[in-house]
Amino acid sequence: MYNSEELKDKILKLKKEKNAVILAHYYQEEAIQDIADFVGDSLELSRKASQTDSEIIVFAGVHFMAETAKILNPNKKVLLPDLDAGCSLADACSADEFANFRYQYPDHLAISYINCSAEVKAMSDLICTSANAVKIIQSIPKGQPILFAPDKNLGKYLIRETGRDMLLWEGACMVHEAFSIEKIMEVWKKYPKAKLVAHPESEPHLLKVADFVGSTSAMLKFVQKDDHPSYIIATEAGILHEMQKAVPQKVLIPAPSHENNTCACSECAFMKMNSLENLYQCLKLGAPEITLDPDIQTKALLPIQKMLNIS
Ligand code: SF4
Repeated sequence: MYNSEELKDKILKLKKEKNAVILAHYYQEEAIQDIADFVGDSLELSRKASQTDSEIIVFAGVHFMAETAKILNPNKKVLLPDLDAGCSLADACSADEFANFRYQYPDHLAISYINCSAEVKAMSDLICTSANAVKIIQSIPKGQPILFAPDKNLGKYLIRETGRDMLLWEGACMVHEAFSIEKIMEVWKKYPKAKLVAHPESEPHLLKVADFVGSTSAMLKFVQKDDHPSYIIATEAGILHEMQKAVPQKVLIPAPSHENNTCACSECAFMKMNSLENLYQCLKLGAPEITLDPDIQTKALLPIQKMLNIS
């Protein structure tokens, strides 16, 4: 067993030897964010994945993100430290059910949030992330009916923001649905001026009282630009690491969840399945590797490419 510092050294050495790049999501544990070549949200990581020259991409995130990297880099080796690192949103939308949904509404254009499987992407017309969803929807001619999957909360938010009526899939993120407004009100008793900054995967009643709603990267930028001393952050608590580095003088409070967990905040159990240890093992062994059906891979690339072009 190696300690954290030894693991970090070994990972950095192996990464160089193998010409690998480590892409990490903001929701990863701090030690992983610190050794990653790039830390970002889904859109930023997709862009990075499409631009890398490295032979191996180690994706410190969840399964659908590593799949997206593979779709964008069919000839590269894409590794995910734990293949079980899933996502409640992606799991809520099976390929068969989605195919049936599409079949029922043949005249609708299907826009899928990037948090879905490669099979669902392959059946979609366009992909979006929370950072570009408004722009993507606004690019669709008015009068064209749209169905949106799999996040109903993001879907409702987009309907309000764009004024476009959309048919929504009934999925939700278990982390963003877990915020407790009662507990947030308790936080406000202690920090009455703290601004609430929320991710649009959160429930409508929470977004209604938020001072700012945006993607993880937009939340980060808002807190940097906004002239205010304290914020309650309603997204996965991992973002606080990068955020606090960007604004060391400000008070950042993770929005509390319904559950009485140890950190009193919302953490994604899937994201936290990656650790320095399994990242090291995966780089050393060159496994677990993401493999996709070539037909799915080709079909899924089109709506992702369209998204990257529009955004
Ligand atoms: S935070 Fe939610 S949307 Fe993100 S990976 Fe975890 S379950 Fe999926």
